[in-house]
Amino acid sequence: MINGLSSLRSPGGTLISLTVVRHPGAVRTSLTSLVRRVKESAEAFDRSGAMSVRTDVARILESADEIEEQGGRGAAIFASKQDGIWELRHLEREPGDRVHLSTRPYLRGLRALPNPMRAGVTIVDHAATKLWVADGDGMQVVEKLTASLGKPNYGGFEGYDEHTAQRRADEATTHMWRRASDLLLAAHREEAFDLLAIGAREETHGEFVNELHDYLGRLPTHRFTVDPSTVNESELYKVVDDAAGDLRRQRDVVAIDAFLEAKGAGRPVTVGALATLEAINAHAVETMLVAGPYEREGVRCDSCGWMARSGTECPLCGTETIEESDIISFAMDAVIASGGVVRQVRVASQLDADGVGATLRFPIS
Ligand SMILES: [Zn+2]
Repeated sequence: MINGLSSLRSPGGTLISLTVVRHPGAVRTSLTSLVRRVKESAEAFDRSGAMSVRTDVARILESADEIEEQGGRGAAIFASKQDGIWELRHLEREPGDRVHLSTRPYLRGLRALPNPMRAGVTIVDHAATKLWVADGDGMQVVEKLTASLGKPNYGGFEGYDEHTAQRRADEATTHMWRRASDLLLAAHREEAFDLLAIGAREETHGEFVNELHDYLGRLPTHRFTVDPSTVNESELYKVVDDAAGDLRRQRDVVAIDAFLEAKGAGRPVTVGALATLEAINAHAVETMLVAGPYEREGVRCDSCGWMARSGTECPLCGTETIEESDIISFAMDAVIASGGVVRQVRVASQLDADGVGATLRFPIS
Protein backbone atom coordinates (compact mmCIF):
# COMPACT_ATOMS: atom_id res chain seq x y z
CA MET A 1 0.00 0.00 0.00
CA ILE A 2 2.79 2.40 0.92
CA ASN A 3 5.06 1.24 -1.90
CA GLY A 4 6.03 4.14 -4.10
CA LEU A 5 4.48 6.75 -1.82
CA SER A 6 7.33 7.36 0.61
CA SER A 7 9.51 8.81 -2.15
CA LEU A 8 6.99 11.53 -3.13
CA ARG A 9 8.53 15.00 -2.79
CA SER A 10 7.21 18.51 -3.09
CA PRO A 11 10.02 21.04 -2.63
CA GLY A 12 7.47 23.85 -2.49
CA GLY A 13 5.54 22.16 0.31
CA THR A 14 2.29 21.85 -1.65
CA LEU A 15 1.89 18.08 -1.25
CA ILE A 16 -1.53 17.24 0.17
CA SER A 17 -1.79 13.89 1.99
CA LEU A 18 -5.37 12.99 2.79
CA THR A 19 -7.17 9.95 4.13
CA VAL A 20 -10.94 9.75 4.31
CA VAL A 21 -13.34 7.17 5.72
CA ARG A 22 -15.90 5.98 3.18
CA HIS A 23 -19.21 6.51 4.92
CA PRO A 24 -21.57 5.76 2.01
CA GLY A 25 -23.32 8.92 0.89
CA ALA A 26 -21.14 11.16 3.04
CA VAL A 27 -17.76 11.15 1.29
CA ARG A 28 -18.25 14.55 -0.35
CA THR A 29 -19.16 16.13 3.00
CA SER A 30 -16.09 14.60 4.67
CA LEU A 31 -13.80 15.75 1.85
CA THR A 32 -15.23 19.27 1.94
CA SER A 33 -14.54 19.62 5.62
CA LEU A 34 -11.06 18.06 5.29
CA VAL A 35 -9.85 20.38 2.53
CA ARG A 36 -11.11 23.54 4.24
CA ARG A 37 -7.92 23.87 6.30
CA VAL A 38 -5.74 23.19 3.28
CA LYS A 39 -7.52 25.91 1.32
CA GLU A 40 -6.76 28.39 4.09
CA SER A 41 -3.07 27.38 4.12
CA ALA A 42 -2.91 27.94 0.36
CA GLU A 43 -2.95 31.69 0.97
CA ALA A 44 0.54 31.48 2.50
CA PHE A 45 2.09 30.20 -0.74
CA ASP A 46 3.32 32.20 -3.69
CA ARG A 47 1.02 32.52 -6.67
CA SER A 48 1.93 29.23 -8.36
CA GLY A 49 1.91 27.34 -5.04
CA ALA A 50 -1.52 28.69 -4.18
CA MET A 51 -2.77 27.80 -7.65
CA SER A 52 -1.43 24.25 -7.25
CA VAL A 53 -3.22 23.75 -3.92
CA ARG A 54 -6.51 25.17 -5.23
CA THR A 55 -6.39 22.92 -8.30
CA ASP A 56 -5.73 19.86 -6.12
CA VAL A 57 -8.51 20.76 -3.71
CA ALA A 58 -10.95 20.92 -6.63
CA ARG A 59 -9.76 17.57 -7.97
CA ILE A 60 -10.03 15.99 -4.51
CA LEU A 61 -13.64 17.14 -4.24
CA GLU A 62 -14.33 15.79 -7.73
CA SER A 63 -13.11 12.38 -6.56
CA ALA A 64 -15.99 11.95 -4.13
CA ASP A 65 -18.10 9.93 -6.57
CA GLU A 66 -15.23 7.66 -7.52
CA ILE A 67 -14.49 6.97 -3.86
CA GLU A 68 -18.18 6.25 -3.22
CA GLU A 69 -18.41 3.90 -6.20
CA GLN A 70 -15.19 1.99 -5.61
CA GLY A 71 -16.40 0.57 -2.32
CA GLY A 72 -14.00 -0.39 0.44
CA ARG A 73 -13.60 1.38 3.76
CA GLY A 74 -11.86 4.56 2.70
CA ALA A 75 -9.37 6.21 0.42
CA ALA A 76 -6.00 7.93 0.49
CA ILE A 77 -5.06 10.79 -1.82
CA PHE A 78 -1.64 12.33 -2.41
CA ALA A 79 -1.68 15.41 -4.62
CA SER A 80 0.58 18.21 -5.74
CA LYS A 81 -0.28 19.69 -9.12
CA GLN A 82 2.94 21.70 -9.02
CA ASP A 83 5.04 18.55 -8.69
CA GLY A 84 2.99 16.33 -11.00
CA ILE A 85 1.71 14.16 -8.13
CA TRP A 86 -1.72 12.56 -8.11
CA GLU A 87 -2.31 9.24 -6.31
CA LEU A 88 -5.73 7.97 -5.29
CA ARG A 89 -5.78 4.63 -3.46
CA HIS A 90 -8.75 2.71 -2.17
CA LEU A 91 -8.41 1.22 1.28
CA GLU A 92 -9.89 -2.03 2.55
CA ARG A 93 -9.30 -0.99 6.16
CA GLU A 94 -10.84 2.10 7.67
CA PRO A 95 -8.42 5.05 7.94
CA GLY A 96 -9.05 8.19 9.98
CA ASP A 97 -10.21 11.45 8.35
CA ARG A 98 -6.99 13.38 8.10
CA VAL A 99 -5.25 15.94 5.94
CA HIS A 100 -1.67 17.19 5.90
CA LEU A 101 0.26 19.67 3.77
CA SER A 102 4.03 19.47 3.55
CA THR A 103 7.08 18.73 1.42
CA ARG A 104 6.77 14.99 2.11
CA PRO A 105 3.85 12.60 2.29
CA TYR A 106 2.17 11.95 5.63
CA LEU A 107 1.94 8.16 5.73
CA ARG A 108 1.03 7.59 9.35
CA GLY A 109 -2.62 7.02 8.48
CA LEU A 110 -1.67 4.19 6.15
CA ARG A 111 1.02 2.69 8.36
CA ALA A 112 -1.45 2.59 11.24
CA LEU A 113 -3.86 0.36 9.32
CA PRO A 114 -3.50 -3.28 10.27
CA ASN A 115 -2.23 -5.31 7.34
CA PRO A 116 -4.98 -7.56 6.12
CA MET A 117 -4.16 -11.04 7.29
CA ARG A 118 -4.30 -13.92 4.87
CA ALA A 119 -5.88 -17.06 6.26
CA GLY A 120 -6.51 -20.56 5.00
CA VAL A 121 -10.01 -21.50 6.12
CA THR A 122 -11.61 -24.92 6.09
CA ILE A 123 -14.83 -26.47 7.29
CA VAL A 124 -14.20 -30.15 7.73
CA ASP A 125 -16.47 -33.16 7.86
CA HIS A 126 -16.16 -36.85 6.98
CA ALA A 127 -18.26 -36.58 3.85
CA ALA A 128 -17.42 -33.03 2.71
CA THR A 129 -14.69 -30.43 3.16
CA LYS A 130 -14.81 -26.86 1.97
CA LEU A 131 -11.81 -24.55 1.60
CA TRP A 132 -11.48 -20.78 1.37
CA VAL A 133 -8.77 -18.15 1.41
CA ALA A 134 -9.70 -15.15 3.56
CA ASP A 135 -8.03 -11.74 3.48
CA GLY A 136 -8.94 -8.09 3.96
CA ASP A 137 -11.38 -8.26 1.04
CA GLY A 138 -13.41 -11.25 2.26
CA MET A 139 -13.36 -14.96 1.51
CA GLN A 140 -12.85 -16.76 -1.79
CA VAL A 141 -13.81 -20.40 -2.16
CA VAL A 142 -10.84 -22.54 -3.16
CA GLU A 143 -12.60 -25.88 -3.48
CA LYS A 144 -15.50 -28.00 -2.29
CA LEU A 145 -14.49 -31.60 -1.81
CA THR A 146 -16.66 -34.61 -1.13
CA ALA A 147 -15.94 -38.20 -0.16
CA SER A 148 -18.17 -41.06 -1.21
CA LEU A 149 -18.93 -42.93 1.98
CA GLY A 150 -20.99 -45.67 0.29
CA LYS A 151 -24.54 -46.71 0.94
CA PRO A 152 -25.71 -46.35 4.49
CA ASN A 153 -27.50 -49.73 4.20
CA TYR A 154 -24.51 -51.97 3.61
CA GLY A 155 -25.20 -54.90 5.93
CA GLY A 156 -24.72 -58.28 4.32
CA PHE A 157 -25.10 -57.15 0.71
CA GLU A 158 -22.99 -58.86 -1.97
CA GLY A 159 -20.34 -59.82 0.53
CA TYR A 160 -19.71 -56.29 1.78
CA ASP A 161 -19.62 -56.68 5.48
CA GLU A 162 -19.94 -53.74 7.78
CA HIS A 163 -16.23 -53.70 8.57
CA THR A 164 -15.15 -53.44 4.92
CA ALA A 165 -17.66 -50.70 4.18
CA GLN A 166 -16.46 -48.66 7.15
CA ARG A 167 -12.84 -49.09 6.13
CA ARG A 168 -13.60 -47.88 2.60
CA ALA A 169 -15.50 -44.90 3.95
CA ASP A 170 -12.55 -44.00 6.20
CA GLU A 171 -10.17 -44.27 3.26
CA ALA A 172 -12.38 -41.99 1.20
CA THR A 173 -12.39 -39.41 4.01
CA THR A 174 -8.62 -39.61 4.48
CA HIS A 175 -8.10 -39.23 0.75
CA MET A 176 -10.32 -36.12 0.68
CA TRP A 177 -8.55 -34.55 3.67
CA ARG A 178 -5.13 -35.11 2.12
CA ARG A 179 -6.39 -33.44 -1.03
CA ALA A 180 -7.63 -30.55 1.14
CA SER A 181 -4.19 -30.33 2.75
CA ASP A 182 -2.52 -30.27 -0.70
CA LEU A 183 -4.79 -27.46 -1.89
CA LEU A 184 -4.21 -25.39 1.25
CA LEU A 185 -0.47 -25.91 0.96
CA ALA A 186 -0.54 -24.76 -2.67
CA ALA A 187 -2.42 -21.59 -1.68
CA HIS A 188 0.01 -21.01 1.22
CA ARG A 189 2.98 -21.36 -1.17
CA GLU A 190 1.43 -18.95 -3.62
CA GLU A 191 1.17 -16.31 -0.89
CA ALA A 192 1.93 -17.21 2.72
CA PHE A 193 -0.91 -17.59 5.22
CA ASP A 194 -0.64 -15.79 8.54
CA LEU A 195 -3.19 -18.10 10.02
CA LEU A 196 -5.11 -21.32 9.52
CA ALA A 197 -8.73 -21.54 10.68
CA ILE A 198 -10.29 -24.97 11.01
CA GLY A 199 -13.96 -25.46 11.81
CA ALA A 200 -15.28 -28.95 12.54
CA ARG A 201 -17.28 -31.03 14.98
CA GLU A 202 -15.32 -31.49 18.14
CA GLU A 203 -14.43 -35.13 17.46
CA THR A 204 -13.26 -34.45 13.87
CA HIS A 205 -10.58 -31.81 14.56
CA GLY A 206 -7.83 -34.13 15.70
CA GLU A 207 -8.36 -36.61 12.87
CA PHE A 208 -8.17 -33.84 10.25
CA VAL A 209 -5.12 -32.15 11.76
CA ASN A 210 -3.29 -35.50 11.55
CA GLU A 211 -3.64 -35.34 7.77
CA LEU A 212 -2.33 -31.77 7.45
CA HIS A 213 1.02 -31.15 5.84
CA ASP A 214 3.78 -30.33 8.35
CA TYR A 215 4.20 -26.79 7.00
CA LEU A 216 0.54 -26.07 7.60
CA GLY A 217 0.69 -27.70 11.03
CA ARG A 218 3.27 -25.11 12.10
CA LEU A 219 1.10 -22.12 11.28
CA PRO A 220 -0.81 -20.29 14.01
CA THR A 221 -4.10 -22.18 14.02
CA HIS A 222 -7.54 -21.20 15.18
CA ARG A 223 -9.73 -24.26 15.76
CA PHE A 224 -13.40 -23.78 16.35
CA THR A 225 -16.30 -26.13 16.86
CA VAL A 226 -19.06 -25.87 14.32
CA ASP A 227 -21.81 -27.95 12.75
CA PRO A 228 -20.55 -28.11 9.15
CA SER A 229 -24.07 -28.50 7.78
CA THR A 230 -25.31 -25.15 9.14
CA VAL A 231 -22.33 -22.78 8.95
CA ASN A 232 -22.72 -19.67 6.78
CA GLU A 233 -19.99 -17.70 5.10
CA SER A 234 -20.48 -14.32 6.78
CA GLU A 235 -20.43 -15.88 10.26
CA LEU A 236 -17.34 -17.76 9.22
CA TYR A 237 -15.57 -14.59 8.02
CA LYS A 238 -16.33 -12.96 11.37
CA VAL A 239 -14.73 -15.90 13.20
CA VAL A 240 -11.62 -15.68 11.02
CA ASP A 241 -11.38 -11.88 11.30
CA ASP A 242 -11.63 -12.09 15.10
CA ALA A 243 -8.94 -14.78 15.16
CA ALA A 244 -6.71 -12.54 13.01
CA GLY A 245 -7.30 -9.69 15.49
CA ASP A 246 -6.26 -11.96 18.39
CA LEU A 247 -3.13 -12.96 16.52
CA ARG A 248 -2.21 -9.31 15.90
CA ARG A 249 -2.62 -8.55 19.60
CA GLN A 250 -0.45 -11.54 20.53
CA ARG A 251 2.25 -10.28 18.16
CA ASP A 252 2.03 -6.81 19.69
CA VAL A 253 2.47 -8.33 23.16
CA VAL A 254 5.50 -10.30 21.97
CA ALA A 255 7.05 -7.13 20.48
CA ILE A 256 6.49 -5.13 23.67
CA ASP A 257 7.83 -7.94 25.86
CA ALA A 258 10.97 -8.11 23.72
CA PHE A 259 11.45 -4.35 24.10
CA LEU A 260 10.91 -4.41 27.88
CA GLU A 261 13.25 -7.37 28.22
CA ALA A 262 15.98 -5.57 26.25
CA LYS A 263 15.48 -2.51 28.44
CA GLY A 264 15.57 -4.60 31.65
CA ALA A 265 18.75 -6.36 30.53
CA GLY A 266 20.52 -3.05 29.92
CA ARG A 267 20.75 -3.47 26.15
CA PRO A 268 20.65 -0.22 24.12
CA VAL A 269 17.10 1.11 23.91
CA THR A 270 15.41 4.50 23.84
CA VAL A 271 12.28 5.55 25.68
CA GLY A 272 10.21 8.54 24.61
CA ALA A 273 10.11 10.75 21.53
CA LEU A 274 13.21 12.90 22.07
CA ALA A 275 15.65 10.02 22.69
CA THR A 276 14.16 8.01 19.86
CA LEU A 277 14.53 10.90 17.40
CA GLU A 278 18.19 11.22 18.43
CA ALA A 279 18.70 7.51 17.80
CA ILE A 280 17.01 7.82 14.40
CA ASN A 281 19.33 10.72 13.50
CA ALA A 282 22.22 8.34 14.31
CA HIS A 283 20.66 5.58 12.14
CA ALA A 284 20.76 3.35 15.22
CA VAL A 285 17.19 2.12 15.43
CA GLU A 286 16.51 -1.56 14.90
CA THR A 287 12.85 -1.74 15.97
CA MET A 288 10.65 1.22 16.80
CA LEU A 289 7.44 0.69 18.77
CA VAL A 290 4.71 3.32 18.79
CA ALA A 291 1.84 3.08 21.25
CA GLY A 292 -1.37 3.29 19.23
CA PRO A 293 -2.28 6.80 18.08
CA TYR A 294 0.58 8.53 19.98
CA GLU A 295 1.62 11.74 18.22
CA ARG A 296 4.12 14.48 19.01
CA GLU A 297 4.94 17.84 17.49
CA GLY A 298 8.43 18.20 16.18
CA VAL A 299 10.69 19.65 13.54
CA ARG A 300 12.63 18.12 10.68
CA CYS A 301 15.21 19.21 8.18
CA ASP A 302 13.95 18.61 4.68
CA SER A 303 17.41 18.58 3.22
CA CYS A 304 19.29 16.08 5.43
CA GLY A 305 16.47 14.40 7.37
CA TRP A 306 17.52 15.51 10.89
CA MET A 307 14.63 15.46 13.37
CA ALA A 308 14.01 16.85 16.85
CA ARG A 309 11.23 18.07 19.11
CA SER A 310 12.18 21.71 18.50
CA GLY A 311 14.72 24.01 16.82
CA THR A 312 14.48 26.49 13.96
CA GLU A 313 17.73 25.57 12.23
CA CYS A 314 19.22 22.14 11.45
CA PRO A 315 22.47 21.77 13.47
CA LEU A 316 23.92 19.50 10.78
CA CYS A 317 23.39 21.52 7.61
CA GLY A 318 22.00 24.88 8.71
CA THR A 319 18.75 24.56 6.77
CA GLU A 320 15.64 26.10 8.27
CA THR A 321 13.53 23.33 9.81
CA ILE A 322 9.93 22.44 8.99
CA GLU A 323 7.45 22.16 11.85
CA GLU A 324 5.30 19.03 11.88
CA SER A 325 2.23 18.41 13.99
CA ASP A 326 3.17 14.71 14.14
CA ILE A 327 6.89 14.13 13.82
CA ILE A 328 6.34 10.45 14.74
CA SER A 329 5.08 9.75 11.21
CA PHE A 330 8.36 11.02 9.70
CA ALA A 331 10.31 9.13 12.36
CA MET A 332 8.59 5.92 11.22
CA ASP A 333 9.50 6.67 7.59
CA ALA A 334 13.14 7.27 8.55
CA VAL A 335 13.42 4.02 10.52
CA ILE A 336 12.05 2.02 7.59
CA ALA A 337 14.30 3.87 5.12
CA SER A 338 17.35 2.90 7.21
CA GLY A 339 16.38 -0.78 7.25
CA GLY A 340 14.67 -0.87 10.64
CA VAL A 341 11.27 -2.17 11.64
CA VAL A 342 8.30 -0.15 12.89
CA ARG A 343 5.37 -1.52 14.85
CA GLN A 344 2.38 0.50 15.89
CA VAL A 345 1.04 -1.57 18.79
CA ARG A 346 -2.63 -1.62 19.66
CA VAL A 347 -2.53 -3.29 23.07
CA ALA A 348 -2.26 -1.37 26.34
CA SER A 349 1.21 -1.67 27.86
CA GLN A 350 3.95 0.06 29.84
CA LEU A 351 4.86 1.79 26.60
CA ASP A 352 1.70 3.94 26.73
CA ALA A 353 3.21 6.39 29.21
CA ASP A 354 6.19 7.18 26.96
CA GLY A 355 4.40 6.73 23.64
CA VAL A 356 7.40 5.50 21.74
CA GLY A 357 10.45 3.34 22.31
CA ALA A 358 13.10 1.61 20.26
CA THR A 359 15.68 -1.10 20.44
CA LEU A 360 18.98 0.03 18.97
CA ARG A 361 21.69 -1.60 16.92
CA PHE A 362 24.33 0.17 19.02
CA PRO A 363 24.30 2.54 22.00
CA ILE A 364 24.21 6.22 21.08
CA SER A 365 25.39 7.90 24.28
ZN1 LIG B 1 19.85 19.34 7.84
